[in-house]
Amino acid sequence: MCDIENVQTLQRGMNFRMNPRYSVILMSRRSNAPYSDKILEDGITIEYEGHDEPKISYGMDPKTLDQPCKTRNGTLTQNGKFIESVEKYKKGLSNAETVKVYEKILSGVWSSKGFFDLVDCKIKHDGKRNVYVFSLRLSNEQDIETDSSIDLAHTRLIPSEVKKEVWKRDNGRCVICGSIKNLHFDHDLPFSKGGTSLTAKNIRLLCAKCNLAKSDKIE
Ligand SMILES: [Zn+2]
Repeated sequence: MCDIENVQTLQRGMNFRMNPRYSVILMSRRSNAPYSDKILEDGITIEYEGHDEPKISYGMDPKTLDQPCKTRNGTLTQNGKFIESVEKYKKGLSNAETVKVYEKILSGVWSSKGFFDLVDCKIKHDGKRNVYVFSLRLSNEQDIETDSSIDLAHTRLIPSEVKKEVWKRDNGRCVICGSIKNLHFDHDLPFSKGGTSLTAKNIRLLCAKCNLAKSDKIE
């Protein structure tokens, strides 16, 4: 159990290779989200916007500045590190970077979307300035955390007696497709109204694919 991120304490949305085997990004599609992150219609591709200059750096609104790939000292920013890995992948010099994606569902509630391959990066003009748009595709490999198929970063929010009850009731399988791989305890949002009433009634087991398909429909 060495590689479970405590999402609540991550300071940044982009965390290149924070784990020896993968990177972690936090996305949000909520209306007040600072960046434009999307899940495409195919249900397995994420477009993730790169990150801005830090607010303190120029006394200017970072939303008016091109997103940086290097700091003023010339070191790579998080954007730069992800771009470098895309370039290596596209030249055939390495595999696509594995990226674990969490989505903000509610304030303080992050839901794992599973592991993705970082396959592309484009520069896009958003009307004011240039931003990076990273493309991530749901990975065939979802068993990276081999110690456990359960996403503990998320399940930590749910009392263990509730987890046990849900697990038994759902027979350790995705309630939609029956998969036993990469399962998550999923809050059924229409019932939970903010995820505060954590009873087995509004929690179910979902696999990464079904979880991704589901959250696409929430909006
Ligand atoms: Zn499923």
